[in-house]
Amino acid sequence: MEARRLDFPALDQDVNGNRLVYLDNAATTQKPRAVIGEIRRFYERDNSNVHRGVHELSNRATLGYEGARKRAAEFLNATSAEEIIFTRGTTESINLVASAWGARHLRRGDRILLTEMEHHSNLIPWQLLAARAGARLDFVPVTGDEGLLDLGRIDELLDGTRLFAFTHISNALGTVNPVGELCRRAKAAGAVTLVDAAQSAGHAPLNVREIGCDFLALSAHKMAGPTGMGLLYGRRELLEAMDPYQGGGEMISSVDFGGSTWAAVPHKFEAGTPDISGAFGLRAAMDYLDGIGRDRILEHDRALGAYAYARLAEIPGIRLLGPAEGRAGLVSFVLGDVHAHDVVMLADRVGIALRGGHHCTQPLHRKLGVESTTRASFYLYNTAEEIDRLADVLREIKRYFSR
Ligand code: PLP
Repeated sequence: MEARRLDFPALDQDVNGNRLVYLDNAATTQKPRAVIGEIRRFYERDNSNVHRGVHELSNRATLGYEGARKRAAEFLNATSAEEIIFTRGTTESINLVASAWGARHLRRGDRILLTEMEHHSNLIPWQLLAARAGARLDFVPVTGDEGLLDLGRIDELLDGTRLFAFTHISNALGTVNPVGELCRRAKAAGAVTLVDAAQSAGHAPLNVREIGCDFLALSAHKMAGPTGMGLLYGRRELLEAMDPYQGGGEMISSVDFGGSTWAAVPHKFEAGTPDISGAFGLRAAMDYLDGIGRDRILEHDRALGAYAYARLAEIPGIRLLGPAEGRAGLVSFVLGDVHAHDVVMLADRVGIALRGGHHCTQPLHRKLGVESTTRASFYLYNTAEEIDRLADVLREIKRYFSR
């Protein structure tokens, strides 16, 4: 794995006089040369708009764009490429379902079930929808600092629920949720399921048919791909029964002044010129990750997550959030009474990139009684030595503030 660092040019630099230690991967990962080169190659050789042209460059762009869709279907083990809709990322994918599925299927008094550990991206779209439709939101509770879902009342909560949306891996706690089991129980209760895979795609093998979800959302930039690109997987029959999300070019079959008809899925949901280079980049990222093996990346992530938890737990007065075991490759913590922003700023002075704040999970932070936490999050290129450096720097910061 360590040799893979050389694939990521951004890692090869000093920051504030020290070798960069990039531990902000849950926010966005670095990009390998294979992805950067593919985007560059697209703009230098194939750049053209998709679908509407018959000339050579347009054909190449269209083939590459639709090829990326096929590749994404294979990456997720979807039944067909038509089940993949390209979006700007997880946030837009969830908004798409909330708008296009919600408008058709949600009625006054209906219930949507979420969990207390959701990112704002998997909360606000449902709050907006609930307000529009007169629906109600319920939440699966989180157990406390150990950060597990309390599934004791899950069947009761699912009873009468129309849609259950939940994260696979918590970006704030590092919890890995039992997505297959949650989908099974939701299905038994007649609820539609949406999995937020922002933190798991690119970190672990993902098989939508094995998971049994109806929708799944991901972002390319959190899995070695470009920003502004992502996708929504949706079961075909559900997508076909949904109205368009946005109107414009590309998503129509026939247009008249008095009314229009829609293109078939997935194009019905892709109004306007899409992020073509982003699709090329996403495909290159998927190829890159599969070239390493997602099961190996998962193993590496888990090992770093466990090692970081153990090393940081040795620091006197630190409060670690999330499960002690079975965690993903990230650790969030409160360093005594040192503010998270001070920790991040001081770590940056020695070239360590962390993130501090509520990590877009403000309600969860309130529930745990903290305003902000510091987060170190890992990817395939991080090493145990980098975690040792982090632990040493955190000890120093703690000592400094205790004087
Ligand atoms: N869901 C989770 C769990 C996340 O961690 C994030 C980003 O941090 C998102 C959703 C939103 O992703 P994006 O900003 O790429 O749409």
